[in-house]
Amino acid sequence: MSHVFPRHTKSDLPVAAGGDGCYLIDADGRRYLDCGDAAVSCLGHSNPAVIRAVQRQVEQIAFAHTGFMTSEPAEALADLLVAHAPGDLDRVYFVSGGSEATEAAIKLARQYYLEIGQPERRHVIARRQSYHGNTLGALSAGGNAWRRAQFAPMLIEMTHIAPCYEYAEKTKGESSFDYGQRVANELEAEILRLGPDSVMAFMAEPVVGATLGAVPAVEGYFTRIREICDQYGVLLILDEVMCGMGRTGRLFACDHDGIAPDILCIAKGLGAGYQPIGAMLCTDQIFEAIRDGSGFFQHGHTYIGHPVATAAALAVVRELTERDLPERAGVMGQKLQSALEDAFGQHPNVGDIRGKGLFRGIELVADRETKTPFDPSRGVAGKIKKAAMAEGLICYPMSGTRDGRLGDHILLAPPFIIEDAQ
Ligand code: PLP
Repeated sequence: MSHVFPRHTKSDLPVAAGGDGCYLIDADGRRYLDCGDAAVSCLGHSNPAVIRAVQRQVEQIAFAHTGFMTSEPAEALADLLVAHAPGDLDRVYFVSGGSEATEAAIKLARQYYLEIGQPERRHVIARRQSYHGNTLGALSAGGNAWRRAQFAPMLIEMTHIAPCYEYAEKTKGESSFDYGQRVANELEAEILRLGPDSVMAFMAEPVVGATLGAVPAVEGYFTRIREICDQYGVLLILDEVMCGMGRTGRLFACDHDGIAPDILCIAKGLGAGYQPIGAMLCTDQIFEAIRDGSGFFQHGHTYIGHPVATAAALAVVRELTERDLPERAGVMGQKLQSALEDAFGQHPNVGDIRGKGLFRGIELVADRETKTPFDPSRGVAGKIKKAAMAEGLICYPMSGTRDGRLGDHILLAPPFIIEDAQ
């Protein structure tokens, strides 16, 4: 009997025993094409440069607490991320994963407004049908009703506006652009409702991953969001935990939208699975408010800036940038989109095939004409996950109408090194 407390207590999982490029190999030697490990493995499972970087760093120094010392890989990684980051994102705060990054971002926004003498700013606005992590602050920002339900009495009060979800919510006769402006303007209405001086931040994913299935915003949406945030002094926090680090065809997903946030959260592809690591990038303006004020960000976990994790991520980001892998994700993503359309475009239960780069979603519907989702009790996406695994393919399912109109979808997020035949 296993003593591990697994994520799903009722399933019996194979044991991961090896990795070879885009494939995971189980203890029985079965190979699985990994297109769905939550968009983590952007470099595949056997990248020699990252493996060497981890080995070297463990031999040199495995851990030094950031309350006492910084480390070479953390410094070099911050420099490299800032060199490629959009806008004025000049400071990098390292954490150990995605939930820690979004949690830290919320606390940083609050502390920033305290430091500059605006303590009345306390509200965070986020979007329905979103996911920003499972710690209580991050879960409060997320708008996924199913994930929130059990913990509702413990969550921080945050409000949620509509996501930008063209397939399901654009009205007949409305242009994509007008739809985007309409839903972006919900942010302004919500800021006015709460009182502009009480709102500190708006949080959103540039391309919605797990909750909607690779849904990019329509053109103009984020430009309008940025405008509204600037007008009311609200910090824009972008959550690129899943869609960042090259997955959409650019190193940072918001580069497609031509805007930059005040705080940017990354994780998953940053460590590419070789080490658990995330980061929160912020502007100098925010950093300086703390440096010149209290001098201490009231946060900090033991493993922030871990030398081995930052060494792995440094090697990952070098691989991504030196080998132009985000561009490759863009090119291969187009091919994947075409292949999916050829295979499933006419299927009566496929409502939409969408995404950016190697971040693609297939929305499954009971009725293609009316876009009616499947009855959630059928667990359609979960069944596809099982069937795909039996065929040697790992894909990421989301099942059930759990949150207004959240249907079933399959997310495909292969490594950027994937080949045409695979
Ligand atoms: N934010 C987004 C957009 C995510 O997709 C996820 C995880 O799926 C998280 C945050 C939380 O990241 P983690 O699971 O590393 O805590």
